[in-house]
Amino acid sequence: MPDFIADLPKAELHVHLEGTLEPEMSFALAQRNGVELPYDSPEAVIAAYDFHDLPSFLTIYYKAMEVLVSEQDFFDLTYAYLKKAREQNVLYCEPFFDPQAHTTRGVPFATVISGIHKAQEQARTDLGIESQLIMCFLRDMSAESAMETLQASLSFKDWIVGVGLDSDEKNNPPSKFAEVFQQARAHGYKLTMHCDVHQHNTHEHIRQVLDDIIVDRIDHGINTLDRSELYSEVARRGLGLTVCPVSNRFVVQNLTTAEIRRMLELGMRATINSDDPAYFRAYMNENLQALVDDGMTRDEIAQLTRNAFEVAWLPTDRRDHYLAALDSYLQAAA
Ligand SMILES: [Zn+2]
Repeated sequence: MPDFIADLPKAELHVHLEGTLEPEMSFALAQRNGVELPYDSPEAVIAAYDFHDLPSFLTIYYKAMEVLVSEQDFFDLTYAYLKKAREQNVLYCEPFFDPQAHTTRGVPFATVISGIHKAQEQARTDLGIESQLIMCFLRDMSAESAMETLQASLSFKDWIVGVGLDSDEKNNPPSKFAEVFQQARAHGYKLTMHCDVHQHNTHEHIRQVLDDIIVDRIDHGINTLDRSELYSEVARRGLGLTVCPVSNRFVVQNLTTAEIRRMLELGMRATINSDDPAYFRAYMNENLQALVDDGMTRDEIAQLTRNAFEVAWLPTDRRDHYLAALDSYLQAAA
């Protein structure tokens, strides 16, 4: 199974570029930018990763981003992730970035996105990994700030495929950003939103993303399974769900393997993703292997992988190209 997973052609649809900041790179960037880190070594950084819920994770996460300052920093961050993903035979990905986490520190939007975009282009040419960028709004900031960020993005519209919503969900419902997302759609962006696991008021939040925002995909979405009117609607629309098993383990103390299997049984298009792999110490293949170790079959892993290419925001010819690569791999491996 490890070889089957390693060589499987894969797509990743839920990975925060800021969440790919490895401690070694943190130290290198801190030195480059004269930022003082409150740790002696990369090992000490990892030892300080004490997450048990979303807020405890976010506190450490935002603090660590302060080493990202220049265009070169964002280039290095993005290129390192794409290189790692390609080594794991991820052929296509749709990474997130959080511009407000940087613009609020005085780093210009153009600096952030230019570094990311140049790395995407170079990785496509040099490594053969294709990617399309998703811009996320921080839901614990105001709708006005999200709207300003949307406006700032329009000069770079061709570099962004869609928009998402992340960060602390408590008391920050999807409806708070209804106008922002409506305008984003009018500008041609695809829409997704985080519905993290076991959050306050989660079922109402999921209802809003389905009925009020009318998303094209849902990030996480495990709690759709609690209510038939939610999961049957997700299945009926064929919406993708970007589930992150190892990330879930930090929040709910298990990989949600049973829930992922249930999604497949219900015909829901669940996919497997790494979320913040540097923090959870697991990239794509480690997430898939964790599921296998928890009892998932090869057929289930193959279906989850197929779903990712099917719900990716790709033009038809590119989607067909990847699905053909997947099919020929599965036939050869059978
Ligand atoms: Zn996420």
